[in-house]
Amino acid sequence: MTDLVLAVDFGGTKIAAALVGGAGDVVRSAQVATPQVDTWDAVADVVGRVLDGEQVAGAGIASAGPVDTAAGTVSPINVPSWREFPLRERVASLVPGVPVELAGDGVCMALGEQWRGAGQSSRFMVGLVVSTGVGGGLVLDGRPFGGRTGNAGHIGHVVVEPDGEPCTCGGRGCVETVAGGPRMVSWASARGWRGADAIALEASARAGDPVALAAFERAGHAVGLAIAATAAVCDLDLAVIGGGVAQAGELLFDPVRRALATHAGLSYLSTLDVRPAVLGGRAGLVGAAALVSGPRPA
Ligand SMILES: [Zn+2]
Repeated sequence: MTDLVLAVDFGGTKIAAALVGGAGDVVRSAQVATPQVDTWDAVADVVGRVLDGEQVAGAGIASAGPVDTAAGTVSPINVPSWREFPLRERVASLVPGVPVELAGDGVCMALGEQWRGAGQSSRFMVGLVVSTGVGGGLVLDGRPFGGRTGNAGHIGHVVVEPDGEPCTCGGRGCVETVAGGPRMVSWASARGWRGADAIALEASARAGDPVALAAFERAGHAVGLAIAATAAVCDLDLAVIGGGVAQAGELLFDPVRRALATHAGLSYLSTLDVRPAVLGGRAGLVGAAALVSGPRPA
């Protein structure tokens, strides 16, 4: 009996698939940019390339949200042609006779880091992706926790500035409006900084530009507030942060830790730790595989 699992990571910008071994090792993988038309054909093609006739013990799917894990459907914001798209059933048709599991990409990132990445010491953690937006997911008692519909752990929409900027969710002042890369750039640009993107902003901050430094300080503070709130509600001992903005290292992590020192004061949060993610772009695939083959608590 094979221990290989098919993992699929469906996102608004790319579709990745992999064969993952029982130890979380990526045996082979492929990816393609997400097309706006014939989107399913692109998924089937990339899955076919990694399967290449191989038998698998199951399949795990990570998808951009919102998802409906009870129905097995996905409605990714950046793929308007997919609304309540039956992704689990479609993938199952490619691997008949084996279990197929679906979860949100934030949950899978957290689960991947907990299984094979920076979260191996923790059974109660949140994973965050701080990038264009801010996503996340929860692992509680060693298990992925998607909540009622699969969308729990959406930490990017914790409110950190009640009178802040409008958010894509329809709300205002969510952490994503402060710490999302493009939002940091527009905040700095409005204060006289000149540059194209978050990578240039990071370079300016390293060079000591006060506006760029303030943008990272503000983003890290917002992320720290959201982690403190989530950790208090869910009794966590770890937050793992990945994504493009987190590549800035201590520029983001120092203000995150300062915010936690101020705002995570409850005694049961005294061991709360923050670490950089280590799996990078593979976290979603490894976590998707873990939905099927990851370790389960006794
Ligand atoms: Zn929001």
